[in-house]
Amino acid sequence: MVSSANAHAAAGRRPLVVGNWKMNGTRVSCVELLAGLRAAGPFDAEVSVCCPFPYLADVALSLQGSGIGWGAQDCSQHEPGAYTGEVAAVMLAEFGCRHVIVGHSERRLHHAESDTLVADKARLALSHGLTPIVCVGETRAERDAGSTELVVKRQLSAVIHTLGHCVSQIVVAYEPVWAIGTGLTATPQQAQAVHAVLRAQLLAASTRAGEMRLLYGGSVNAGNAQELFAQPDIDGALVGGASLKVADFSAICRAASHVALGSIGKSRT
Ligand code: PEP
Repeated sequence: MVSSANAHAAAGRRPLVVGNWKMNGTRVSCVELLAGLRAAGPFDAEVSVCCPFPYLADVALSLQGSGIGWGAQDCSQHEPGAYTGEVAAVMLAEFGCRHVIVGHSERRLHHAESDTLVADKARLALSHGLTPIVCVGETRAERDAGSTELVVKRQLSAVIHTLGHCVSQIVVAYEPVWAIGTGLTATPQQAQAVHAVLRAQLLAASTRAGEMRLLYGGSVNAGNAQELFAQPDIDGALVGGASLKVADFSAICRAASHVALGSIGKSRT
């Protein structure tokens, strides 16, 4: 049997760990956090942090030349213009952003973002050279009603409809809403089952879907990361709370790096 670590490598999928700082931190604490993260690296997995908009310039300065990427937590579905309070994807590109999260459940919930709006944001991000990290996931009530598959497929299908075969250029994050910030994590088997559904849906849309990174998010921490990353269709994580602590986030990045090296436990050379 091919080990799951080899399964990721064989498909050409370099694990990716993305920190979502949400609306946390100060200018000083962000720079301190990044100095610690730089010192803990380099990592064989790809690592990126998505910070609040006002900190982008500081984050770019702190991470320049480190190999660690940076990005934002949202962007507008519009090109620049009369949209008070919005931030355009092209502006994020100016700050060297590599990633932008779109469709996080907190935005779907608190800002009533629809599946089509999220898809439009992903399209704009891609058109400006950013990699959108598109979040999908079911609520507790939807899981209890047996609708998990229906919900995540509906959310992803809006993105596939808008992007067509270019969907292979995005990253998808499966984030069960009930696991975000709650300390409850989907079991590796529960997460893998949904990732397999998403991978199959993507494969029907793009011949390159085998190379796409599908991240799991929802209370990932230093203790559960390795088991999640050992699943064949889990290619990394979107990390909220634990990304604010250097020791925890770097441990998650190291766990993903072991997968990147093609063998859990093999040390970097
Ligand atoms: C998130 O905000 O995307 C997230 C997964 O948060 P946490 O890791 O805190 O559950």
